[in-house]
Amino acid sequence: MTRLVAELGDITKLEVDAIVNAANESLLGGGGVDGAIHRAAGPGLLSECRALSGCSTGQAKITQGYKLPAKFIIHTVGPVWRGGGNNEAELLASCYRESLKLAAKYKFKRLAFPSISTGVYGYPIEQAVDIAITTVSTFLGSSVHDLEHVIFCCFSESDLNLYQSHLSALNQDE
Ligand code: ADP
Repeated sequence: MTRLVAELGDITKLEVDAIVNAANESLLGGGGVDGAIHRAAGPGLLSECRALSGCSTGQAKITQGYKLPAKFIIHTVGPVWRGGGNNEAELLASCYRESLKLAAKYKFKRLAFPSISTGVYGYPIEQAVDIAITTVSTFLGSSVHDLEHVIFCCFSESDLNLYQSHLSALNQDE
């Protein structure tokens, strides 16, 4: 069974097959985790991203990891929170599913997600955590993949506490 864990840390430091980037539609870098990933990966990443011609919200594209300890980067574009009536929940779920589909296609064993859309894009954290954990656990239980370890990489103690309480609720349901 795949281990689903929440950890506090900097996603750019993780030695996994792939980390997920909360990118924007240009795929040309930005602030937050996107900026941190581009800085740590180095300029090779930007050149590869330029050739991808962007990415729609809810979709995902893959690049190499360059100077990161992670071998690959899966770039997904989360929705900007506009009050919740603009398909945000479905688009956020789609980010997780499309990233996992790529991870399955490439036969990755270890994958790490940041908390997509909950920084500059303003998605309410509690709702986003629920979508993240529900979507990932549903995918893992219903698809063919090689994933052994999926990490929710949290950037604050308060996010970590939320992920951990949702994960323990999930484990009690099983
Ligand atoms: P978005 O635009 O999708 O909201 P942000 O990068 O603004 O993306 O924020 C997404 C989450 O990533 C936030 O919880 C933010 O604190 C977190 N974050 C920022 N830098 C890092 C990092 N180096 N590692 C892990 N998470 C990070």
